[in-house]
Parts: sequence; structure tokens; C-alpha cells
Amino acid sequence: MADPKNPYILLTPGPLSTTASVKETMLRDWCTWDDSYNHAVVEDIRRRLVDLATKHSGYTTVLMQGSGTFAVESTIGTMMPKTGGKLLVLVNGAYGARIVQIARYLGIDHAVLDFGEINRVDPSRVNEMLEQDSSITHVALVHNETTTGMLNPLAKVAEVVKNHRKTFMVDAMSSFGGMPMDLGELGIDFLVSSANKCIQGVPGFGFVICKKERLISCENNARSLSLDLYDQWKTMETQGGKWRFTSPTHVVRAFQQAMNELDAEGGVIARFNRYYNNQRILVEGMEKLGFRPLLAKEFHSPIITSFYNPFEPNYSFAEFYSRLKRKGFVVYPGKVSVADCFRIGTIGDVEQEDIKQLLVAIEENMFWR
Ligand SMILES: *Cc1c(COP(=O)(O)O)cnc(C)c1O
Repeated sequence: MADPKNPYILLTPGPLSTTASVKETMLRDWCTWDDSYNHAVVEDIRRRLVDLATKHSGYTTVLMQGSGTFAVESTIGTMMPKTGGKLLVLVNGAYGARIVQIARYLGIDHAVLDFGEINRVDPSRVNEMLEQDSSITHVALVHNETTTGMLNPLAKVAEVVKNHRKTFMVDAMSSFGGMPMDLGELGIDFLVSSANKCIQGVPGFGFVICKKERLISCENNARSLSLDLYDQWKTMETQGGKWRFTSPTHVVRAFQQAMNELDAEGGVIARFNRYYNNQRILVEGMEKLGFRPLLAKEFHSPIITSFYNPFEPNYSFAEFYSRLKRKGFVVYPGKVSVADCFRIGTIGDVEQEDIKQLLVAIEENMFWR
């Protein structure tokens, strides 16, 4: 990767390294009420997102300006009824904790099941909780907890939530497009993701894929005008892809190109295999160099992996980071509170060869030994 405009590749969970062809599409300006944008770009993306998400009918999608958190907040603030609803949040990392924080800000009645940062969400405890507290109406799960790289048991949690007939919301920010899943099969009511994760677009908007009837029942729930998911959907749906407020046109066009490239790669399964191999090569190589992953291997996702910082007097993450950056690789600091870690992402325009070169760069820069 000797691209002078991109001196390093991002081994991070997003924004991530995108292809030159995705970036190039942003060199044109677009009119937000012209068909060449609304119809040919926005509506095309919306249709294709739903196709990517499920074979079942009855799903729709809404695009929402902002980073992923805006889309999460918009979903929670719109799906929860103004009175009588209670949200159960399943937490094992910072993104689950952020959903709790959103519920607090919005004054939404909620309960929390916290599993700690290095344990998986346990479906049997979710079941117990739903049996005990019949006032719970909605359940929120983070599929891949990007804090650690923990992959939560989506299908098993979905089964429990559906048995109890609760509305199920999934933050699949860092997994959608990179891991196969069928929303209809799983019974997911609302799934949230964003442009700059596994679809490999650039940052600027999030999207929510949801059951159309569920969304329609949420009219007038929103606590915020700009984050009213229903109103955003209604405008897009009835006005041929129009956004209520200025849409991030260049980012949206880049996302369409990213979707084309996902198709060209062979779809979600092919992308999953590439990420999976990246991550497997990474963990094997890191273990050979003496690094230890934070999580048990059966909890790993192909997206991002946490490693313990070496417990050596001469080690410093800042120094390690800047040496790797000079070699063309940007890794990520840790985010867990229970352990001293750093993280390496394996998503984006990143190939096995990049991971192999990273491992060589790491071996050559273990200055603390
Ligand atoms: C990236 C991410 C988000 C959204 O983060 P933003 O910084 O708002 O884009 C939410 N949940 C998960 C699991 C994520 O990985």
C-alpha cells in the first residue's frame, strides 16, 4: 500500500480503509431533488439494503444522517412508546452501555442485564429476566461488541426474545454486511448499522432496517425532530428517496459504490470469509509473537480483536503505535476497563497480505524485548 495520499491503512473498526474507487465517486456534486440522486442513488441503496438483510417480505429501511450512534438514538427514541414501554438492554461493553445512556437521556424506562466485558450475553439469563419482569416490552442487543470484539449469540437471544413476543432491536453496527444474517429468519424488528463499517463506505450516515408495520406503529413516538425515524422514513418512502434535511450526498454516493463492490466481491459470505481469514491469520501470528488475546477464542468475531498489552517495563502503547504507523499500519487503543489492551481490526479494504505485512512490522518493532 504505497499510496502517498493514504500513508497508512486503518486496522480499526471504522472509519476504515476504503478503496480508491469508493473515494473517487465523491468527486462529483449532486442535487438532492434531482432524480439522478434520489431515485438512482438513495432509492437504489434502500432497496438493496433490504435485499441484503432478508429474504422475507415486510421489511423497509431508513437512512439517517450522522454517525452510528445517531441512528441508534433515533431508533430507540422512535420505537419506544411515549408511555408504557420498558427497554431491556443487554450489556457487555461500551456500546451496550451507550444504549443505556441513550435510554437515560430520553427518559425511557429501562432495565439492564450486565454480563461484564469479557463474557457473552447469556440467553438463559435473558429468558429469566423476561419471565420475571413482564413490564419489559423491548429488548436491545449489540451483535458484535466492538469494545472487545465479542460476538454475541444473536440467534439464541433472538429466539428467547421472540418466544416472549417482545420487540427486538439489534445494534449490528460492526457486523452487518460482514457476517451473514437474515433479519426475517431471526425475527429482528429493528437493526441498526452505519455506512463506514462492513459495507466499507465512508462515515456520514447510519441506516435502520426494520419491519414496516412495526415502524408505522411508531408514528408520533419520537422525542426529537431531527431523529424522528418514522418521519424520516415517511418522507423517503412517499417522496421518492428525499431526505427531510440536507443529505450527505457524497457519502451516500460513495456508499452505493461500496455496495457495488460488496456485490463484486461475491456478497456477504465472500466478505465474511475474507474478514474471517484476516482475523485467523492475525491471531495465529500474534500468538506466535507472544501476544495474548483478551477473549476466549470461541467468543472472537472476524471484525476486531483485543490483545493484552505486553506486561514489560519498556513497553509503551504510544511508542508501539507510532512505530507501526510509520510502517503503514494504524492499530487501535483498547476500550475495556477490566484489562490493559489494544485492538486490531480486520475489516475494510484489507487483505491477508496486509495482515502478513503487519505481523512482520510488529515483529520488527518489539522494542521492549
Ligand atoms: C461503531 C459502532 C457504533 C456507532 O459508533 P459511532 O461512533 O457513533 O459511529 C455503535 N455500536 C457499535 C457496536 C459500533 O461498533
